[in-house]
Amino acid sequence: MQPLVYFTGYPQDLQARVRALIEQGRLGTMLADKYPQAHAVRNDGQLYDYVQALKERHLRRSLPLGKVAYDSTLQVMKHALGTHTAISRVHGGRLKASREIRIATVFRDAPAEFLKMIVVHELAHLKEAEHNKAFYALCTHMEPDYHQLEFDLRLYLTHQESVGTPAR
Ligand SMILES: [Zn+2]
Repeated sequence: MQPLVYFTGYPQDLQARVRALIEQGRLGTMLADKYPQAHAVRNDGQLYDYVQALKERHLRRSLPLGKVAYDSTLQVMKHALGTHTAISRVHGGRLKASREIRIATVFRDAPAEFLKMIVVHELAHLKEAEHNKAFYALCTHMEPDYHQLEFDLRLYLTHQESVGTPAR
């Protein structure tokens, strides 16, 4: 059995339910029903504007943004989904020194909610380096459904991999 890499550390019964959804071919439909909305953030310029707008709304007083870009080389997810992984400087592609935000290309075609979730995650890192309580408080301040979205993102990435589209 393939390990469910995005659910490492989750209870066995939950993992079993995820496996059942995959085996029954229901995971993709379930996600498409719940998250039907695509987004129009297609290139790095649009991504910069999108990140900047969220930052203006919620984190106006933090340091100015550096470069913002989609990055097809990021093996994001295992790292950016911080709850169950060790802290890593380059997880999620945020380069602290330059305040650069890189977003894995998989989010370009992901539902709008997941792009927002990952941008919120990276913006929160402008103020909190670690995945601690203050960090998640910032995330839920910017996106009240943050935790649900992060969980559903794990489902989404698991689905992408199960249908042969590696999440990058
Ligand atoms: Zn992080």
